[in-house]
Amino acid sequence: MNRRKFLNRIFVIGSSGSIFLACTDTQEGEKDLQNIEENLSADQAFSCSDLSALTEAERSLRDTFEYTDESPIEGQNCTNCTLYVVPEIGESCGGCLTIKGPIHPHGYCTIWAAQTG
Ligand code: SF4
Repeated sequence: MNRRKFLNRIFVIGSSGSIFLACTDTQEGEKDLQNIEENLSADQAFSCSDLSALTEAERSLRDTFEYTDESPIEGQNCTNCTLYVVPEIGESCGGCLTIKGPIHPHGYCTIWAAQTG
């Protein structure tokens, strides 16, 4: 599944770390992707570091996998990771299927996995 197909099928509803998945049709998915890219262009300096809703174990998992809001590896970030869940419309931070809490689209962790075709 490529990135665009992935984004067309999944988006985040809720910003407290709870992840809900919903299906969209192709046109809605295209709009979602366009909105996300516009949000990113408008605000590149936001942070996804509010961990107040997480348990100690969930915070520890972020640390274990060395999550960071800014990827140190060119070409590898959360938006092209197969585990990324795109932000709710109007939100900047997305989610992750493995790591709880807000996830920056430009973020990275050591379990990054490339999206496949
Ligand atoms: Fe980002 Fe890591 Fe989650 Fe992939 S697994 S979306 S790189 S936090």
